[in-house]
Amino acid sequence: MSDLYLKFVNTPVGKSAAQTLGLPSPVPLSRWKRPDQPFIEGHVLVGASAGGKAIASLGTILGASPAELFHASAPASLEDSAKAGSKSTALVPSDTNQRFAALVFDASGMKDTAELRALYDFFHPTIRKLSGNARVLIIGQDPANCKSAAQAASQRALEGFTRAVGKEIGKKGSTANLLWLAPGAEKQMESSVRFFLSPRSAYVSGQVARISKSSQSEVATNPVAPLTGKVALVTGASRGIGESIAETLARDGATVIGLDIPQAMEDLQKVTDRIKGKALACDITSAEAPKQIAAFAKEHFGGIDLVIHNAGITRDKTLGNMPEHFWDMAIAVNLTAEELIDEELLSQDLLRENGRIVCVSSISGIAGNFGQTNYACAKSGVIGYVEAMAKQLKNGITINAVAPGFIETQMTAAMPLTIREAGRRMNSLSQGGLPVDVAEAIGWYCNPTSVGVNGNVVRVCGQSLIGK
Ligand code: NAD
Repeated sequence: MSDLYLKFVNTPVGKSAAQTLGLPSPVPLSRWKRPDQPFIEGHVLVGASAGGKAIASLGTILGASPAELFHASAPASLEDSAKAGSKSTALVPSDTNQRFAALVFDASGMKDTAELRALYDFFHPTIRKLSGNARVLIIGQDPANCKSAAQAASQRALEGFTRAVGKEIGKKGSTANLLWLAPGAEKQMESSVRFFLSPRSAYVSGQVARISKSSQSEVATNPVAPLTGKVALVTGASRGIGESIAETLARDGATVIGLDIPQAMEDLQKVTDRIKGKALACDITSAEAPKQIAAFAKEHFGGIDLVIHNAGITRDKTLGNMPEHFWDMAIAVNLTAEELIDEELLSQDLLRENGRIVCVSSISGIAGNFGQTNYACAKSGVIGYVEAMAKQLKNGITINAVAPGFIETQMTAAMPLTIREAGRRMNSLSQGGLPVDVAEAIGWYCNPTSVGVNGNVVRVCGQSLIGK
């Protein structure tokens, strides 16, 4: 469903009407368009606090992009400055007209809260120099691994800082996110840096992603089609977010098995024909579904690499008015089916090495929602499942979740107008997301080099004001 207000407010008449009436003025978001598009274009300013552990890897990742790099600690190279433990001073002069597509700050070296001043020193003179649709990315250390309380406090402080920055820059279509590295995980951050700096993360803001060190050997990928040779199962692929996930994974090189209920076969077939995939008619809540899916994957491909649990339903009613079958269906489709399918694929050893499982949760599962006790319960259960499974999976297999906020689909088009408008605007970007925004986040999880990205729940919600 199209957002007519977003279109109107970006016309000259609409812009001045919104200004006069004090209404939100959402900026159209730039999304990833061309296969050969670099992950970031424009000028990138990089800074680091003393002892930054990620700065050398950042230099390698960003150095390989066509973006022009500026360093806050001139004139040393990124690597030299990390070795020398330089401070983030010597910023670009405040009178320069230079605009930045991204500000990247390595705060991983911070050891105590006095060092938080480096954030102010770096961002205060530069934040107003961000162009529209820009990116702020901060790299820190996971506080869970910090040796002292002072260090944990300084690293945890980055979360509040990032979220507040996201709220300040969202009105220009810009985002702010934080990566928390485990010790020694610097080499595992490339796919995440690329994702969070690129237009693929257009609707992801105020998020923290944890990156762990992996013993899995590094894999070389084709940046244009990183999923080449992979087989993906996408449930609920006939429409909405699932259709977009199927298209995005196919665009990135995967062969897709699209699954949906038998009643949706006509639409599903159109999707899978378009992306040269295979269609599977299956109700994931049926007793035979896990074995049926496993047999299909085995027969056609000998196994599977990517499992995307997207199929979902809402059956809204306040708890006192909720019929029993509403409760049962919401739990069965949104939660139990995912567990049973994974159990079967894993027990038959069909999920291949360096495989990926991605579950689609919801901000309703994080914040709860009126009339959605069943749905929120199931989507929250998905998060618990992902966090527990992340510790158990082996062979480089990861599991993560996305938690979409307001996404423009048939599900949200069916909402009453006032609730729909509120849902659309109540986020830092003042607009709803598109199915492709969820799909791109899933593409990042599925990237073969995202092996250190495990057990995360990243919201694709434009930094919704709802929830924590
Ligand atoms: P949708 O209703 O457009 O699509 C869901 C798909 O799942 C449909 O094709 C449906 O046929 C399929 N499905 C339902 N029950 C099934 C079953 N038993 N077996 C097989 N397939 C089944 O919904 P959507 O908006 O595209 O949502 C996709 C996912 O994203 C869902 O898990 C949903 O809960 C989640 N989500 C959506 C939003 C949003 O704003 N649209 C927000 C948060 C989370």
